[in-house]
Amino acid sequence: VGYELLVACDLEGDSHRPPPGHPEIPERAVAAMSGIERAGIKEAVEVFKPRKASLEELLAVHSAEYVRLLEDTCRAGGGYLDPDTYVSPGSFDTALLCAGGAIEIVSRMASGSYKAGFLCMRPPGHHALPSRAMGFCLVNNVGLAAKWLEDRGQRVAIIDWDVHHGNGTQDVFYSDHRVMYVSTHQYPFYPGTGHYSEVGEGRGWGTTVNVPLPAGTSGAALRQAFETIVAPVVERFSPDWVLVSAGFDAHRDDPLAMLEATSGDFWHLARVVAQLAPSGRLAFFLEGGYDLQALSLSVGATLAAVLSLPYRPEQPSSAPGTAQPAIERAKRHLEDVGVLVSR
Ligand SMILES: [Zn+2]
Repeated sequence: VGYELLVACDLEGDSHRPPPGHPEIPERAVAAMSGIERAGIKEAVEVFKPRKASLEELLAVHSAEYVRLLEDTCRAGGGYLDPDTYVSPGSFDTALLCAGGAIEIVSRMASGSYKAGFLCMRPPGHHALPSRAMGFCLVNNVGLAAKWLEDRGQRVAIIDWDVHHGNGTQDVFYSDHRVMYVSTHQYPFYPGTGHYSEVGEGRGWGTTVNVPLPAGTSGAALRQAFETIVAPVVERFSPDWVLVSAGFDAHRDDPLAMLEATSGDFWHLARVVAQLAPSGRLAFFLEGGYDLQALSLSVGATLAAVLSLPYRPEQPSSAPGTAQPAIERAKRHLEDVGVLVSR
């Protein structure tokens, strides 16, 4: 009997060391792994330690100049690549392991029979631009996995439910019609991008979709955004693969943002994305999530949902909240320009 979930993780190999007080810490990957145990699904999970990505693989998304700068800064002892984004001497090796893990998840799944994959590694990747580190992110992990699949003729939808807009991922695929990028995020907020009028350009027009949500948006409203906007645009795109930028900083306990989701809400979001993915073609990539308890519970709920198990450690939120007008505005705009064709 095969395993149902494939998880890339290497806690011992993680040598990306934060400066004191920084929220993006190695304990995040530990907490995420503990969520799998709490959810009681450990027996369904195959965990592997990934190989490092090659330079050639990184160049599918990043410039050679940037990769050199990243390596040189680490080798020189570390420092800050932007006001939020640090590297330590071991960060380059850790970034290569994350990138290798991202690619290995989808390449192993392509020839296996898993229900889903999960990159349980940090730092996150969705703010990383082709030529620049940003927002705790060094290498765009989900972008590398999507490129690997695209190079093999696959249509890929990236769904980003991290509370921040994944500007790096959007940038990589903005004019690419074979990779769709769909994001829900707090707005206006860091990094500043992700207005609903950003819908792609050139041949990629219509394959970028943004659903900006005001501070205070409830989990119920987030679920509504998934059901009324995310699901129909992805369904119409008809992807061969669905990759999820799974940050859990939209949780109500997260210290960095102001959305109000619970782990029970993430369970529902995971059910939606699982229905959008062809069988065995669904992978999650850890992005943000800075409250360790919330992260642990939410990872467990997400992966349990993929296995159709009713593990919801916290109630899904029922309050509709105040986000309805914002969701309606985004929906109407996307319908008006023809990006969203409602069912
Ligand atoms: Zn985030």
